[in-house]
Amino acid sequence: MIKKQDVFEQALAQLEEALSGMRIEKGIARQLKTPQRVIEVSFPLKKDSGEVELIQGFRVQHNNARGPYKGGLRYHPQVTLEEVKALAMWMTWKTAVVDVPFGGGKGGLVIDPKTLSRPERARLTQSFARTIHEVVGPRIDVPAPDVNTTGEEMVWFRTVWAKLHPEEEHPDAVITGKPIQEGGSEGRTEATGEGGVATLDALRDAIRLPKKFTVSLQGLGNVGSYFARGVEKIGGTIVAVGDSHGAITNPQGLNIHKLLEYKRIHKTIVGFEGSKKISVDELLEGPFDVVVPAALEGAIDASRARILRSPIILELANGPTLPEADQILSKRGVIVIPDILANAGGVAVSYFEWYQNMHALRWESEVVRRRLRTLMRSAAATVFERARRDQTTLRTGALRVAVERVARALERKS
Ligand code: NAD
Repeated sequence: MIKKQDVFEQALAQLEEALSGMRIEKGIARQLKTPQRVIEVSFPLKKDSGEVELIQGFRVQHNNARGPYKGGLRYHPQVTLEEVKALAMWMTWKTAVVDVPFGGGKGGLVIDPKTLSRPERARLTQSFARTIHEVVGPRIDVPAPDVNTTGEEMVWFRTVWAKLHPEEEHPDAVITGKPIQEGGSEGRTEATGEGGVATLDALRDAIRLPKKFTVSLQGLGNVGSYFARGVEKIGGTIVAVGDSHGAITNPQGLNIHKLLEYKRIHKTIVGFEGSKKISVDELLEGPFDVVVPAALEGAIDASRARILRSPIILELANGPTLPEADQILSKRGVIVIPDILANAGGVAVSYFEWYQNMHALRWESEVVRRRLRTLMRSAAATVFERARRDQTTLRTGALRVAVERVARALERKS
């Protein structure tokens, strides 16, 4: 993984590349490069032992020209402000690419939640909610899950926020990614992974994806696991998988349902029946039809880009490809389906959840899934067309679509 302080530079470099072929007024460009608000917090967490730990964290609100800030909450020991700033900026582009009326934001706490008990995780999230409650809200800033946070954290957050804001008519809409029985939407948990499948399927002719194709997947968390389940339905076979404990392969195909069950019991994928252990290099550089980074940033650096043998990369993680690697891949003719398109299914269904909460509606699973597929297909077609017209990579095409929409909204406001 790359040094975290470089991640915001990575986001800026991508933006510069997109802006270089556009006519965007200087003042607007400066606004696009700069978060509107950066909130740094620290608060005490009482551990079960009675000991008190000081927790540090951030909420970055990058841009709200197109609607309330929107973006996940990440709990990870290596979270940095630079990283959260980059992730917030990417959210602005993502909501614009799929054309949902949100802006971009992101939050993070510097903590390894795996070292905490469930009551400690509850107190952590409740304190975070109390600390930032004034700067979030259904029409202000709407968080969601990200790495190491799930529906459980969303409910703890929502409950504290709702108590502090009795005036709010639709308190459930303060956060998305809630479990269905707690005001969540059908299809939200699966949305990012399934949206990735829909994107790949929508682009399959354009990128010459074979009817039957092999996939190597890094990350088998929320995003990776639903992608793995869904990709089989469009002709994909997962032949390699990696997570934070290691990587495995089976050229005949890994049975994902059994693998997920194995992981649930053994907490690792290593040792799964019929599989062979491989290195991270083999996982990401091997001769697969599609490589899918679905873990953390920086998985594909320049040296990896020079030697990897897959013709297609589907970015389900945020920021897995470094700018220098991007250039090398583009020269080598490797197609990168960029994060701001490929993993936008999550924020799309987050919008559906927020909309249902704001209108006291409940959509059936099939309605959500159909709307998600339509939205992803339309976004993929728009991005592909823009990249073809401008003769750019899909990333720059996607960024130009997004930047144009955000810039237009900023102009209307000025
Ligand atoms: P998660 O916590 O559920 O899963 C993360 C996975 O990455 C786990 O399998 C973990 O073992 C693996 N991992 C962590 N560190 C690793 C390492 N050093 N090497 C290899 N594997 C490692 O998180 P998630 O929600 O699935 O998110 C994964 C990625 O997708 C992140 O980049 C996140 O920002 C992005 N994303 C998530 C959503 C969402 O809706 N959850 C939406 C858009 C983008």
